[in-house]
Amino acid sequence: MNKEAYMKEAEAELLHTYNRYPVVFERGEGVYLYDTEGKKYLDFAAGIAVQALGYGNQEYAQALKGQVDLLMHTSNLFYNPPIIRAAKRVLAASGMDRVFFTNSGTEAIEGAIKAAKKYAYTRDGHAGHEIVAMRQSFHGRSMGALAVTGNAHYQEPFGPMMPGVRFATFNDLDSVKALIRENTCAILLETVQGEGGIYPATQEFLSGVRALCDENDILLILDEIQCGMGRTGQMFAWQHYGVKPDIMTCAKALGCGVPVGAFLLTERVAERSLAPGDHGSTYGGNPFVGAAVDKVLELMERDDIPGHVREIAPYLEQRLDELVARYDFLTARRGLGLMQGVVSEKPVGEIAANALRHGLVVITAASDVIRLVPPLVIERAHVDEMAEKLDAVLREL
Ligand SMILES: *Cc1c(COP(=O)(O)O)cnc(C)c1O
Repeated sequence: MNKEAYMKEAEAELLHTYNRYPVVFERGEGVYLYDTEGKKYLDFAAGIAVQALGYGNQEYAQALKGQVDLLMHTSNLFYNPPIIRAAKRVLAASGMDRVFFTNSGTEAIEGAIKAAKKYAYTRDGHAGHEIVAMRQSFHGRSMGALAVTGNAHYQEPFGPMMPGVRFATFNDLDSVKALIRENTCAILLETVQGEGGIYPATQEFLSGVRALCDENDILLILDEIQCGMGRTGQMFAWQHYGVKPDIMTCAKALGCGVPVGAFLLTERVAERSLAPGDHGSTYGGNPFVGAAVDKVLELMERDDIPGHVREIAPYLEQRLDELVARYDFLTARRGLGLMQGVVSEKPVGEIAANALRHGLVVITAASDVIRLVPPLVIERAHVDEMAEKLDAVLREL
């Protein structure tokens, strides 16, 4: 089938919940994608910050193939070796004490919310606790995650939302303080806001929220679904700040393409939180995803991927800053590590679409940000290639 035929069929079959770019990808190699017509694309989107190891990593592929032959799924009524190995690695990397594996990011958020509510229920002997979340945040599309996503547009048709959620302003500690009440059980935020426009938390804000939580026995939940797994130059972004969450969520690059998420807890929280009967998942943490997570974390540690990000990110920042200086309609660059955003006064959807014609994949965030979340294994030459292609796109506008 040619590209037009694929697109026509897809639009006739799939529920129309996305306005897709007119590209049909067929295979990937390293940091490049190839479409069905054989055209090559430099990928600075990584399937929305998922493909941290790029494409075609043979050690990863072999681990998955081996597990497919051995055992795919058993349910959580039994134990399985790969998920035990995966759990050990993710706990060691995060310094957290307990992990529950999910099938997506939004489910990790659902679990984190339930864990926080149960903790407060155990402590107080009653339910009815509230969560403080942030405006312009993004935590997922299921009803619980949607309720803590501070974007009226996403919520509007689906009300009523889960009650007991109040929204503060990201990086404004006073706005958080103003919402704290007797029954607040958790403060939830992305360490680096992704969909909202690539905003890293300030040190002052994150330290302040941590202190506020400590003073009031409120749990700090950090959503590391996009900014975690080495993307910012630490395995988890909060590790830059010297601030540790009580609960954290992870997904996206955790499986590097295998659908898996997780929420992690400290022992202090886990002890008084979800118990048998409180939570579950048929697929969650099955042997297949266990093999993926185990291998991803093994390779990230062995190859010091966070170290590589710390080395390459300043060069990406430099090349992006050059573009911001060159074009009046680019007004700012911000981000942390290989999670970068460039603010544009000209339509970013058009920039992303034109970039595809130039053989470059970039995505957008908020309404005015060009988002760059490449595979973490990019080299300087890839940054140069990206900068040249993006320059050509911007010049044409
Ligand atoms: C992508 C994302 C989610 C939702 O993850 P899904 O796997 O799409 O459900 C939640 N939080 C953040 C910060 C994300 O970037």
